[in-house]
Amino acid sequence: MPLLQNHIAVVTGAASGIGRAIAFGYAKEGAQVVLLDTNETAAEEAAQEIRRSGGQAESMVLDVTRREDCTAIAKRVAAQVGPASILVNNAGINRRNAFTGDAEAVVRDWQDIMAVNLNGTFNVTHAFLGSLRATKGRIVNIGSVQSFMHVRTPSSPAYTASKHGVLGFTRALAAELGKHGVRVNAIGPGLIETPLNASVRANDPELMKIFMDHTPLGRAGKPEDIVGPAIFLASDLSAYVTGSIVMADGGYRTV
Ligand code: NAD
Repeated sequence: MPLLQNHIAVVTGAASGIGRAIAFGYAKEGAQVVLLDTNETAAEEAAQEIRRSGGQAESMVLDVTRREDCTAIAKRVAAQVGPASILVNNAGINRRNAFTGDAEAVVRDWQDIMAVNLNGTFNVTHAFLGSLRATKGRIVNIGSVQSFMHVRTPSSPAYTASKHGVLGFTRALAAELGKHGVRVNAIGPGLIETPLNASVRANDPELMKIFMDHTPLGRAGKPEDIVGPAIFLASDLSAYVTGSIVMADGGYRTV
């Protein structure tokens, strides 16, 4: 039997990269998937592709920074699809500006990155809490190697802070929701080839060298490299796992 049969899985930022790959992977394992993203067209195209290949999927437009919209989407998913039993908080942005650089950019980066990566994770989780408690659900948050460390300057301190925050939020919720049967874990990707870092990969060989020097597996990751850990954490394979972060980073922190 597929690992996620009878589950309803909500994935934020599912129009691209890691979130898109997770949505496809969950559908293949039998879940009914709801793809949420600000990019309505790309999210719907992904949902159509899943349906064409025999899976169950639909897309809805959502900006995770808008708390009231998150509440409305949770109600809409419950009414139109059913109670969500898996939530993947994947929507995220990054910018690489130094803290000592242009003051306006520094403030803007802080506000925007925190709004999506950390407040967005809070907003969506809070909105779906009722369904997740009712289904004894599973939450999978997308952290980073930067949930533990900072990777080179110039890079936004907000990104590092937001991903540390995602790990802290994961642990706090795991502690509180365990008694309700809800498991909360995170995945820590290393450098994964997605549009998020396309310009770094194209224009910043020095940073790419730092990443590769720290990657014993000797290659950048693909979005598909995150799918296995995401299925594991959403399925009964991880029935006794909560408050953990599964690193899918090619071994980044070993060297
Ligand atoms: P991506 O840019 O390919 O996809 C991100 C998606 O999130 C896009 O579809 C975008 O439209 C959506 N999004 C952005 N802001 C949103 C908002 N306010 N509301 C709803 N959707 C929004 O990026 P990716 O590399 O797939 O990143 C996915 C997650 O993985 C992010 O949380 C990122 O921080 C994390 N991550 C990525 C890497 C990497 O190397 N790519 C490494 C570590 C962690």
